[in-house]
Amino acid sequence: MNAPLDEQRRAELVASLGALRARIADACHAAGRDPHAVTLVAVTKTYPAGDVAILAGIGVLDIGENRDQEAAAKAAAVDELLTGTPAERRPRWHFIGQLQTRKCRSVATYAHAVHSLDRLELVDRLADAVTRAERAPLGVFVQLSLDGDPHRGGVLPADLAALADAVAGRPELRLRGLMAVAPLGADPDAAFADLQAASMRLRESHPDAVEISAGMSEDLEAALRHGSTHIRVGSALLGRRSPLIG
Ligand SMILES: *Cc1c(COP(=O)(O)O)cnc(C)c1O
Repeated sequence: MNAPLDEQRRAELVASLGALRARIADACHAAGRDPHAVTLVAVTKTYPAGDVAILAGIGVLDIGENRDQEAAAKAAAVDELLTGTPAERRPRWHFIGQLQTRKCRSVATYAHAVHSLDRLELVDRLADAVTRAERAPLGVFVQLSLDGDPHRGGVLPADLAALADAVAGRPELRLRGLMAVAPLGADPDAAFADLQAASMRLRESHPDAVEISAGMSEDLEAALRHGSTHIRVGSALLGRRSPLIG
């Protein structure tokens, strides 16, 4: 990597991280919440492994990716860049994109958590992949559809309980909570209020599934008003992605 460019990029990321942390702190303060209880997942899709290594160096260890091919290659490249770095200062990879059944085996080799489990056929596939990878249980957020359109990802509310029960029924998986993306053009506060209500209902049968993955660059304040524990932020931290690939 070119050292001066690397320094310049590091300075950019330090600055945008500072601004983002201030936004998170303000939003938490307004909602009467502790900012330390919120996990920032930095979404690095389309950005290089070098950016992930810089983020790890400045304390951002939760990294989100939405495509397996890109994530697997980047995880390997980051491993290389961070040779000699102790495990507790290495990234945790969060898979946040639509998951295809044929990608489960790969995702289970590097992911710390999957945020986008949204149908029954993925449950056994992922659990079997965890066994095959001989690894610790994989954290799972079930993705809920908030607009009733399953083409955009997410289980329909009517099917949520059965899906959550199936995840909880596999010891290779750990049901952590729910994830959602606010519908395009909808009021994010209304959407995230629905998500929080679904999370409360889920906890009646799965008391440990307390986490909520919600909020992106444009709507993280609304998500934090409605109990989000994991915000997934890309452009506000790394910069605007090309509209063709983002
Ligand atoms: C890209 C992406 C994000 C981050 O989006 P930004 O608007 O860049 O913050 C969050 N969640 C998912 C599922 C994504 O695909």
